[in-house]
Amino acid sequence: MNNETACWAILPAAGIGERFGSNIPKQYVKIADKTILEHALKPFLTNENITGVAVALNSHDDHFSNLQIKTSKQFITTVGGETRAHSVLNALIEIENLLDRSDFVLVHDAARPCLSHQDLNALIENTIDLGVGSILAGPVADTVKRVEGNTIVETIDRSDLWHAYTPQMFRYHLLFTALKKCIDKNISITDEASAIEEIGLKVNVLRGDSAKVKITIPQDLKIAEKFLSVE
Ligand code: C5P
Repeated sequence: MNNETACWAILPAAGIGERFGSNIPKQYVKIADKTILEHALKPFLTNENITGVAVALNSHDDHFSNLQIKTSKQFITTVGGETRAHSVLNALIEIENLLDRSDFVLVHDAARPCLSHQDLNALIENTIDLGVGSILAGPVADTVKRVEGNTIVETIDRSDLWHAYTPQMFRYHLLFTALKKCIDKNISITDEASAIEEIGLKVNVLRGDSAKVKITIPQDLKIAEKFLSVE
């Protein structure tokens, strides 16, 4: 990889994990001896291609300060916002003076604890020469239905459908412009690629299976545990 280009990681970790339903935010639930957030941070803190890491925390967060984050990289925290897009935009603003506008940012869910170095490096390699960016993703394996109430109203052709995972890696200035537009125009998005699509740009996908494990409900912990124990 060319050493001139900075790659900052941003982990939005300001959510409250409503669907998970525990009394602490899900990113602070432990798998083995570490919190989900620490597992999610690890590949970035230990990867030579990553310049620095920024984490967006909930304004009421009283767990992060108990973690022992050891790293030789630049590491900063910022306050998240009312949606994931606000949290990521706040982190982008926080690191604005630490990189060039055409450098890259990789946004990764704090709820994805199983990302492998192999998938992270493959994404960086795949994206570093692109003008816009790319994301880890995986083809849809199940048959997909549109449901109203509890009735199927449509079966959707899955042959060109993919699940969007994270990290999602984009040129800083494009992601900044895209997220700002979505927020200013009240366009609801659940990932960064949607914002980039919204400004009319094309996003590449790269298959990366370690990124698919996302903790949404307590049952997902078992899957993550298994994945991490065979790493
Ligand atoms: O809710 P979900 O798991 O899809 O959230 C994805 C990521 O976005 C999580 O890491 C969560 O902490 C983060 N998030 C955030 N700020 C919000 C809402 C979610 O940083 N306001």
